[in-house]
Amino acid sequence: MNMKDLKVIHKINEIRPLINNNLGKIALVPTMGALHKGHKSLIEKASEQNEFVVVSVFVNPVQFGVNEDYDKYPRCLEKDVELAKEAGADIVFAPSVDEMYTDIYFKEKETTLVCPPYKYVNRLCGKSRPGHFDGVCTVVSKLFNITKCNRAYFGQKDAQQLFIVQKMVKELNFDIEIVPCPIVREDDGLAVSSRNSYLSYEERKIAPNIYKALMCAKKLKEGGIKTPDILIDASYAYLKDFDTDYIEIVSKEDFCPISEVKENSLMLIAAKTKKNSVRLIDNMEL
Ligand code: AMP
Repeated sequence: MNMKDLKVIHKINEIRPLINNNLGKIALVPTMGALHKGHKSLIEKASEQNEFVVVSVFVNPVQFGVNEDYDKYPRCLEKDVELAKEAGADIVFAPSVDEMYTDIYFKEKETTLVCPPYKYVNRLCGKSRPGHFDGVCTVVSKLFNITKCNRAYFGQKDAQQLFIVQKMVKELNFDIEIVPCPIVREDDGLAVSSRNSYLSYEERKIAPNIYKALMCAKKLKEGGIKTPDILIDASYAYLKDFDTDYIEIVSKEDFCPISEVKENSLMLIAAKTKKNSVRLIDNMEL
């Protein structure tokens, strides 16, 4: 395999001179690290479609709530660099928190935030994670400005995030194409996630039930059932071993609930395992 030379950069003023229009199309793949085959698929797609690929690795404190897993989130930069290199990245940008946020943020929790409309962030993942999407949009905007990317790659696994970022890009006139990438799954259907490493042996065995719940709704819909509540009840039966945060069917157009399932309807699930409290999310177009 012919691997490119990959640079690992930690400072904003060091990445800036490396990026210019002569490189051709520049792609950004924003990640929080602990890279896996889901991330790899994004980086490979970015490197097929662009001349230059930046993978950012940054666990963004602003998108974590106080009782969330910021401190224990897995961090393994050396392994991440290897995976990014194999997948065709040119730069891994791995800034420290101090590099991304000024002193005043740490002292007074004060920084300029990019806040999407309440209507879209007060639902689904945003409901149980207040401030999460403000943190996501803020860091993504900063990374867009730092990398001057032409395209940015996001996984459909985080469907609400993808929707909100697409909306932000349109409404704030970022000259950037957002490229959605399909969900990568384990053989048993479980969506690959950095958080799967928190699962106990028993939890890992039941985790694919979330995928089964989605497949159940899809099959019933294909059989002609179009009432969201009937599909949700049927899927819910697979989630008895979880504390379900939400199970909803929305329109892909506006992420609002629908009264009848049509083309372009998405079922979304967030559920926590009971023992280790691992919050798993997944979704499927019905
Ligand atoms: P994260 O590191 O969890 O913030 O994810 C970085 C990017 O990778 C996001 O755009 C995710 O949607 C995407 N991603 C994470 N897991 C998967 C997966 N299993 N399949 C596809 N994309 C994924």
